Amino acid sequence: MLTTLKRIVQEVNQIPGLEPSLDRLATLVRETMEVDSCSIYLADYRNQALVLKATDGLEKNAINKVRINFNEGLIGLVGQREEPLNIENAPLHPRYKNYPEVNEEAFFAFIGTPIIHQRKVLGVISMQQKSIRRFSEDEEAFLVTLATQIGLEIANAEIRGVLDVNSERAFDAPKSINGVPGSPGLALGQAFVINMKHELSQLVVRKTTNQKKEIEHYRKAVEITRGQVDSLSDNLADSLPEDIKAIFQLYHHLLDANSLGREVEQKIRENWDAASSLKLVVDNYAARFAAMEDPYMQERAIDIIDLSNRILHNIMEASGSSTNTDQDLPDNVILVAREVSASMLAEFPVEKLKGIVSIQGSNNSHAAILARAMGVPAVMGLGGVPLSLVNHQELFIDGYSGQVVLAPELQARAVFLQLIAEEEALSKRIESEAEQPAKTQDGCHMTLLVNAGLSAGLEMEQNKQGAGVGLYRTEIPFMLRERFPSEQEQYELYHSLLSAHPNKEMTMRTLDVGGDKPLSYFPISEDNPFLGWRGIRLTLDQPDIFLVQVRAMLRASIGLTNLHILLPMISTINEVDEANRLINQVFHEVRAEALKNQQTLVKPSIGVMLEVPAVIFQLERLAEKVDFFSVGTNDLTQYLLAVDRNNSRVAGLYSSYHPSVLIALSHIIRISNRCNIPVTVCGELAGEPSGALILMAMGYRKLSMNAHSLRKISWVIRNVSIAELESLLADVLSCDGPSDVKHIADKYLELKGLGGLVRAGS
Ligand code: PEP
Ligand code: MG
Repeated sequence: MLTTLKRIVQEVNQIPGLEPSLDRLATLVRETMEVDSCSIYLADYRNQALVLKATDGLEKNAINKVRINFNEGLIGLVGQREEPLNIENAPLHPRYKNYPEVNEEAFFAFIGTPIIHQRKVLGVISMQQKSIRRFSEDEEAFLVTLATQIGLEIANAEIRGVLDVNSERAFDAPKSINGVPGSPGLALGQAFVINMKHELSQLVVRKTTNQKKEIEHYRKAVEITRGQVDSLSDNLADSLPEDIKAIFQLYHHLLDANSLGREVEQKIRENWDAASSLKLVVDNYAARFAAMEDPYMQERAIDIIDLSNRILHNIMEASGSSTNTDQDLPDNVILVAREVSASMLAEFPVEKLKGIVSIQGSNNSHAAILARAMGVPAVMGLGGVPLSLVNHQELFIDGYSGQVVLAPELQARAVFLQLIAEEEALSKRIESEAEQPAKTQDGCHMTLLVNAGLSAGLEMEQNKQGAGVGLYRTEIPFMLRERFPSEQEQYELYHSLLSAHPNKEMTMRTLDVGGDKPLSYFPISEDNPFLGWRGIRLTLDQPDIFLVQVRAMLRASIGLTNLHILLPMISTINEVDEANRLINQVFHEVRAEALKNQQTLVKPSIGVMLEVPAVIFQLERLAEKVDFFSVGTNDLTQYLLAVDRNNSRVAGLYSSYHPSVLIALSHIIRISNRCNIPVTVCGELAGEPSGALILMAMGYRKLSMNAHSLRKISWVIRNVSIAELESLLADVLSCDGPSDVKHIADKYLELKGLGGLVRAGS
């Protein structure tokens, strides 16, 4: 069954355009399953109906005409119940409704199954038979499995329909796509895709009117590819084993004008552009190879695709539609990338950056934290969006709701500009009070600190209030280099930070790489990176890295008193003991050196991040071993809820407002106060208006956040009272879910006239 399914899906995927591919799908299913009809309906949510989009067996003239409401007929019932329906004699079913246009009087047996993607019913696929019989379990299993496989394809085709002005749309869909909110704020600007990697699998096929030019582009691209392949095989000539030699021979054969070339040029003559023609031909080859029984031949499908991606890249270069260059950079850029990275943002001219769209990642990925640190609106996790279609389009992005609107029309544009203006007015108001103290209406002083390191020092510039640093993520300077920074390089960096505000605390976290913070020069490949070799686990296994870093920090702190050292990802007491031992060892060495020069070195206070749930149950023991705690709500949420902070598919489940996270936080502050140990919250929750209020209600008095949130949170603090917040706490902690918690907090903010801060954008 699997091979048949694979063959059908592969064949259908090669067909350009949604409607022709659904048409072919209906035929293939009818023929393979030997049934009398197969039909596909797609959901049109605007009109609450399922529309016949393809059929083999029913009346083809009814395509796009028959619309079945979700509360009508058997197709509607499948869509409504979101489960398969297998009926022996359909006309006897109470929900049966005859649609004369489709001409189905002769059919009795019916089976239908929903096509679902990310909880949403995209359509229904059905098979019918003229006899009275129940479809077998095998037939039912086939249809259900097929439906799961085509769900993603249909969702992607819908997105392409939204994006591509040339493609037919399934319906008059609004030109907007939903992602995950990454950084609050609204922006209108021009999409600028960086690091666009051309892959045939991502290519959206297009027609051309200039066959001659397309043939030229193709031939030029093949020439360049041939040169690249030749020099590759020359370089490897002596060391090549026989099987690899065979691959190069295959490449040469394919690059021959009489092989791929003939077929590609034929497609160009059918008015497809060069890249599309290559895709259409290669998909066909790859599917034929992949369907072969022999595993060796199946593998060759990968080689063909690999070579073709090279040709594609060269076609794009030849046609001038390759990656953007800096000269193309407009003044209002919405930066779009498959995966936004720290170095990408560090190198980007900040004054031109209005918004960020990352195809991968989620709301607490480090790219999203980075965007918040820079105060730039961001949307994450846009899934199957082909970058080439977005490039250079005008985009409106709503970082509150995660919505991206493409090429907004005049009226919508005017509304967006108005919303942006309102937001700017609010920021100006907050800015004008930047110097005011963070003191509640009933006189409670809050200590606000800044999280730094993520945008290569930018936060320190923005930290106009000169707040201390509650979390300096030292891994970022490591990530921006191509090798480990030397002790001296680290010393210089740390010293400049410590001496800039000698009277303000500077909490430096030891290297926290792993998870979604990779070092290009220290690659780690793991199945579960967030549960793997990360933070203190890695640095204790590589004490050289840890010792060099701590030595650089201690040397930088000679003559100063503001260094605090923070240990990330602690999950056992042993790790704290081991880290303390190493820190003490370096401390004694550096102090001895300092004394020789008549300089002093005070012992820095040592703290641990509370971000792995295990430590919540050992707080008293930990408090005996260290000087302070810092709560990392980002990871604590991820590990308590078992939700990958980087995976947009489960973004709806990731929330630091989950009552279990809040109960854990309230336990932490209670025990910390009892043990008399200072505690800060440095996760993103502390920088959100609702989050900060809840933490204050629990008793937290030290919050560390990105420099942008600092002014906002300080403004919130001045407008609320601790007594009122405390009275909300019992309600918050007894909520069933995160949305109820958010609702209570947001309602309070609105009551205090601070609703503008939590508005859901457009
Ligand atoms: C956290 O986990 O809350 C935290 C502050 O650390 P990071 O986001 O760098 O993992
Ligand atoms: Mg963390």
